Amino acid sequence: MPDRRVFLRRALALAASGFLAPAIARARSRARFSGYPFSLGVASGSPTATGFVLWTRLAPEPLSGGGLGPESIEVRWEIADDEKFSRVVKRGTASADASRAHAVHVEAEGLEPARWYHYRFTSGGEASAVGRARTAPGAGAGDERLQLALGSCQHYEQGYFAAHRHLAAESPDLVAFVGDYIYESSRRSGRVREHRTPEPRTLAQYRDRYALYKTDADLQAAHACAPWLVTWDDHEVANDYAGDRGQDLDPGFLARRAAGYRACFEHLPFRPSVLRPDGEYRLYGTHAWGALASLFVLDDRQYRAHQACPRRSRGGSNVVGPDCEERTREGRTMLGAAQQRWLDGEFEASKSRWNLIVQQTLMAPAGRPTAGGVQHWTDGWDGYPWARARLLESLARSGAANPVVLGGDVHANYVANLHARPGDARSPVLAAEFCGTSISSSGPNPKVVAAIRDANPHIVHADGSRRGYVMLDIGRERLEARLRVLDTAARADAAVSTAATFAVIAGRPGLAA
Ligand code: FE
Ligand code: CA
Repeated sequence: MPDRRVFLRRALALAASGFLAPAIARARSRARFSGYPFSLGVASGSPTATGFVLWTRLAPEPLSGGGLGPESIEVRWEIADDEKFSRVVKRGTASADASRAHAVHVEAEGLEPARWYHYRFTSGGEASAVGRARTAPGAGAGDERLQLALGSCQHYEQGYFAAHRHLAAESPDLVAFVGDYIYESSRRSGRVREHRTPEPRTLAQYRDRYALYKTDADLQAAHACAPWLVTWDDHEVANDYAGDRGQDLDPGFLARRAAGYRACFEHLPFRPSVLRPDGEYRLYGTHAWGALASLFVLDDRQYRAHQACPRRSRGGSNVVGPDCEERTREGRTMLGAAQQRWLDGEFEASKSRWNLIVQQTLMAPAGRPTAGGVQHWTDGWDGYPWARARLLESLARSGAANPVVLGGDVHANYVANLHARPGDARSPVLAAEFCGTSISSSGPNPKVVAAIRDANPHIVHADGSRRGYVMLDIGRERLEARLRVLDTAARADAAVSTAATFAVIAGRPGLAA
């Protein structure tokens, strides 16, 4: 309050001196905010050759509902050629409405292909941070490159987001985030910081959880550095849910899922058209990077069949042996019929040099031999082998050039060759797979990872000991993947290094020797 009084007094003094009427207008609207309104940063997403989506949310009190009343607030946006905004190329206004948590999703259009831009928002005399976004190359371009960063799994309590700071410093063209942007649950051990609120179930609680994550400066830097493509996995709602079923078999699960989906949509730079007229959040879609690459972003969580052979009186995942016949049953879908049919068509139609399948989890078979037979974890593609075979058959049949699968979820780096018939080493290699480690979520038991690697010759690298992200440098002739890992996620100032580098040569399926 004292600040506001001082400010108003100064503004009135200025007005009395006959100086600049706009200063008064700014003072009035500034008084509307009880704190800095752009506390959650800015973001861009879904670039095309002519535009991208710009995102922000007004939240002067980010950790407790946002701090704004029911009224709509005007937000101005500007896109410029330069960081100082001396050459503004587009500007406009958007309405931040309480019904959408005062978030705005601006679809900027009419920009030039293959160009970097700067953008910012202003409202009530306050200005946001400046973000950088770029357009994709045009369809006819032939000499493009794509520097693509791949991230997933950022538990706030289990680590700092140093990986995001390093990712931003590498100035990627595009960031693909493949799920577990927030976590709903807590574990008492190994915490470096705390959620401080109970497990979210309502829209208000999910909004506060997103806001907590988005107050992180390193995460804001990663959003401000480049446009993102996003899909979700389970923790955006709750651990191990499958389609309409939560792991605790809560009869109210669909209402909870709707709250989680809505908060996710509000807080990330999705196109508004992701929300369909019937209320479905359709995240899957194709994103083109000129003639160089098609990125097929999938949703393997919302439409999937329930996990096979859950524990007694539970839903969710399990580790099962050969006695679980349900696991290999025909028709057990991972993508749902509509998404799979759509993907068939996209594979068929693609003329891109590289075809990148951007999805949540490890696709390569990762069975673990035990005395009782080979065991599989049922939440990943190993839990849905019929659906995996269906997808890979469709991919092979289409002849789509140079397919590469990108994933996350397992909190470990896995690099693998995907055979046309998964797990059958005599069938031809169809694609390389890069499954990235977590940004901050704690890793799996190293003995289990080593046993999986040793039992599966198509997996050439498996290491869950460190957190990080993957940097993919994609050119016409060659794709190179650098596995970037932190010394530790327990320190915000952790250093990064490259654990390993792999290449794929265009025209030669799978990993280069
Ligand atoms: Fe995760
Ligand atoms: Ca997950």
